[in-house]
Amino acid sequence: MTLSDERKYRRRREQLADSLREKGISEDKVIRAISRVPRHLFVDPALRSRAYWDEALPIGHGQTISQPFTVAYQTMMLDVQPGDKILEIGTGSGYQSAVLLELGAEVYSIERIQPLYERARQILGSLGYRITGKCGDGTHGWAAFAPYDGIIVTAGATEVPEPLLEQLRISEAGKSGGRLVIPVGTSEGQTMRRITRTGESQFGDEQFHDFRFVPLIGDAQPATRNEGDA
Ligand code: SAM
Repeated sequence: MTLSDERKYRRRREQLADSLREKGISEDKVIRAISRVPRHLFVDPALRSRAYWDEALPIGHGQTISQPFTVAYQTMMLDVQPGDKILEIGTGSGYQSAVLLELGAEVYSIERIQPLYERARQILGSLGYRITGKCGDGTHGWAAFAPYDGIIVTAGATEVPEPLLEQLRISEAGKSGGRLVIPVGTSEGQTMRRITRTGESQFGDEQFHDFRFVPLIGDAQPATRNEGDA
């Protein structure tokens, strides 16, 4: 990529950041993280000219890289602090992982489609972003590294998977409980929820705006258990 390409993409990232601010993303650190991640390198080269439009784009296998507004919105709701341990369900292109890393999080990420997982690993690695990842069904969470300060689900759930609740950090002196940010609804649309662990088996549950994600497919999603093997 030439120097003028680099400048062009940097300018487009700045414009995207401005538009996210106008749409209500009020956390400067989230905007700064988005401004640092080269989204054009996470999309198909044929779609690069659209990489900084605020829209989801196809990444193959019927999946998408989420719209930048959605990435910023979910990230803001996670309230990431440097050093937080965050589990992402749905690595997809790897873009959301990069944004979380820019905020200083330690990132664990699971993707169910092997070629997407491998491609994301390769892109993240080439840009110097380090995650702990695996290919599998993220509806089980990843107990080996639990508890998490935050869990972000980047696909539309029909139900909240129990294992994810169990793997949230319990609040203790000086540290608030883990937060699960998850879109829940039907294939037609989902409501963004933030579930915060306030005790061993106590949870706060807040509901926010409506979105439309590709489906979360897995064992802890009975309605989708037998859907495609993509
Ligand atoms: N975070 C991604 C990004 O930054 O590109 C966006 C991902 S896309 C909207 C949702 C992803 O969730 C898809 O790649 C899909 O294969 C994955 N997915 C769906 N069900 C899953 C599951 N049970 N476990 C892990 N990944 C899953």
